[in-house]
Amino acid sequence: QVSHKQEMMKMHEIATHHFRQNLQKSDIVRKYVQERQIAPETLERFGIGFSSDSWQALADIFKRSGFDLDIAAECGLLMKSKNGRYYDRFRNRLMFPIRDVNGRTIAFGGRVIPALDDGESAKYLNTNGTPIYKKSQQLFGLDVARRSVTAQKNIMITEGYMDVLTLYQFGYTNAVACLGTSFPEEQVKRITELSKNVELLFDGDNPGREAAFKACGKLLVKGISCKVVLFPPEDDIDSLLKGKGKELFENLRENRTEGLSFCIQTLKKRSPKDAIEWSREFLGQIEMPELFQPMASKLALGLGIDEAELRLGVVEQKKTQNTRMNFQ
Ligand code: ATP
Ligand code: MN
Ligand code: MN
Ligand code: MN
Repeated sequence: QVSHKQEMMKMHEIATHHFRQNLQKSDIVRKYVQERQIAPETLERFGIGFSSDSWQALADIFKRSGFDLDIAAECGLLMKSKNGRYYDRFRNRLMFPIRDVNGRTIAFGGRVIPALDDGESAKYLNTNGTPIYKKSQQLFGLDVARRSVTAQKNIMITEGYMDVLTLYQFGYTNAVACLGTSFPEEQVKRITELSKNVELLFDGDNPGREAAFKACGKLLVKGISCKVVLFPPEDDIDSLLKGKGKELFENLRENRTEGLSFCIQTLKKRSPKDAIEWSREFLGQIEMPELFQPMASKLALGLGIDEAELRLGVVEQKKTQNTRMNFQ
């Protein structure tokens, strides 16, 4: 099993190298990269590449190097057809290596290149869960961002690959992407271990705002201070920085909303019943006892509900997980 994983890591290393070479060879892809204003230094730093039009390129490399192609299929680099032939899973895509904290590639995300697209493929194709890649645990860009996160005691969270790259180019080197809007509990845990100060830079559209709302709830109950930067509905941080500039971003950043205030704003748009239900569940999950009282008050005040009524039926968490375990 251990050697299986090592073989998978090795194949990802080879694939990363192969995709990077491809990118240099393709004029169309280099043009797309320019259009999206990704600098050569950024390509290099994040190891970005290109999977060519071939169904066999990577499969051939693995075969020649004597790798077990079943293992390549198991870690999502190749596919196996019904009649037992292996073929490349990623084709005609801009390839983003997803790397562990030590910088080793463990998965890929591939973006469609419009000039090479038939119009039917999903915009992004990602590695599914494999023995070396637990999707819900990883944060894209953490290997690059970790030093800055530690030094600045602050982490920026975005939705996508391009968001992290663009922030990096504008000098914000402490950004990672959760790769979508679901923000699973394991990512939350990972973040709490990295920093107690989180800045959420989700897309300005409705799914982005909804995701920010959920993320705030999950972070606040763990005692993490989180702030939400709000973008216009048509923008994410990538398009905003490139289209409207750093100054506007810094303005929006100055006016960012504290996490619980953002939750209150969101809840006010819902029915009172839903708002109360959410608040009670939220309060019941707060892990830091000293935060319970101030948050209950702020929620009650913000929502215009009597505090005692809001707290009805809420069981306050008094002890840390450790002491709870000692009692058992
Ligand atoms: P771009 O700027 O290149 O259009 P984006 O990052 O702004 O991409 P979004 O649609 O905002 O794209 O999606 C945010 C993130 O969610 C993506 O970066 C990707 O990680 C993930 N994602 C989006 N679409 C898909 C998809 N069809 N399948 C899997 N993951 C996806
Ligand atoms: Mn989006
Ligand atoms: Mn986006
Ligand atoms: Mn985008």
